[in-house]
Amino acid sequence: MFRDEKLKDAPAPLPIALHGEAILRQTAIEVRQFDAELTHLAEQMSASMLAAKGVGIAAPQIHSPLAMFIMASRPNDRYPDAPHMAPVVVVNPQILNASSELNAGEEGCLSVPGQRFVIQRHEKIEVRYQNLQGEWQQGELSGFIARIFQHEFDHLQGITLLERSQMPEQQPNLRKEVVQNQVSLKHTAKEGNAQ
Ligand SMILES: [Zn+2]
Repeated sequence: MFRDEKLKDAPAPLPIALHGEAILRQTAIEVRQFDAELTHLAEQMSASMLAAKGVGIAAPQIHSPLAMFIMASRPNDRYPDAPHMAPVVVVNPQILNASSELNAGEEGCLSVPGQRFVIQRHEKIEVRYQNLQGEWQQGELSGFIARIFQHEFDHLQGITLLERSQMPEQQPNLRKEVVQNQVSLKHTAKEGNAQ
């Protein structure tokens, strides 16, 4: 399901938005134009993520309102046990299903520097998203990769790690998002048929 997007590493890293900035509190906007500008944004996100030694980054973290993120797990000082994976660009993501099994694990965030939180995430999720060419991808993620997806997905709902860590009932909150996404999925399918 995952296609390695050939991102150039040319652009200079951009400053990362910090918790409290308005861009991190808003719901991201659906991507509709899959063009060179979108690819350039992905390259800027990638460069900024690598410079900050992150394993993922969401567009709002470099001050773009678009619903898009990059997952790029690899072992580093903060996540020594992280699996290696080629960077994946995820556009307009949806969580279709989530396992009832939860995992508690430590997370950090480039927008909440210097802090770590233990966060409950679903062990397995079924996801759907578009790649940089606008092609729909679907598949199941588990473990650390599923954790990154849920973390970045939160960013697109205007939720940072700080808010997530303070949610007393993490499970019901995520379930609510899942239901909302299933509704929007049906909506998208209808739009697709109409075209
Ligand atoms: Zn983050």
